[in-house]
Amino acid sequence: MNRSSNIIDCKSNCFLTLLLNILTINFIHLQPLFKVTYKLYKMSNITFTMIKPDAVRNGHIGAILNKMNEGGFKIVAMKYTRLSKEKAGEFYEVHKERPFYGELVDFMSSGPIVAAVLQKDNAVEDFRTLIGATNPAEAAEGTIRALYATSIGENAVHGADSDENALREANFHFSGTEMFM
Ligand code: ATP
Ligand code: MG
Repeated sequence: MNRSSNIIDCKSNCFLTLLLNILTINFIHLQPLFKVTYKLYKMSNITFTMIKPDAVRNGHIGAILNKMNEGGFKIVAMKYTRLSKEKAGEFYEVHKERPFYGELVDFMSSGPIVAAVLQKDNAVEDFRTLIGATNPAEAAEGTIRALYATSIGENAVHGADSDENALREANFHFSGTEMFM
């Protein structure tokens, strides 16, 4: 092999090495951005719900799950469980100063619940629409609370109110291996 072809080989090798380095460095720098974007995408895709003790006692689990399915929500985690007073208090800690907090904690720990993580585009907002207003007397016709809730306190279902809370609440109830997103 002559000297000029060696120089060409070296040049093309150097170019490839340089290109590879640039791509690798850019990928390393962009990786956190990809991760954040992916996490945000996932976050806006899920909501957290509980079928509350009143609806479980009144035999509405099947009908409520059916409404979720009809609404286009996919169940990616689910468990039948009962909250201790301590856990119910922790879950609703944001309402600690509200006059109904004690009543809410007693009610949420009064019997079994169904906890679930649901997946759908725009999950949080769409699920809040599906469940209706907190007070069933004000809930739109056909919503879960209009159909199955009995009072403002015993209102059949919980729905997370933001993407951040949906993620926090999902992690409160489920471990990573119990969610199938
Ligand atoms: P949730 O968080 O359970 O989905 P929500 O977001 O519609 O309900 P919040 O204001 O977060 O309503 O209240 C949490 C829960 O506290 C209500 O779902 C209800 O069970 C109870 N609650 C709210 N307001 C009252 C009230 N005025 N009297 C008694 N209980 C209430
Ligand atoms: Mg709320």
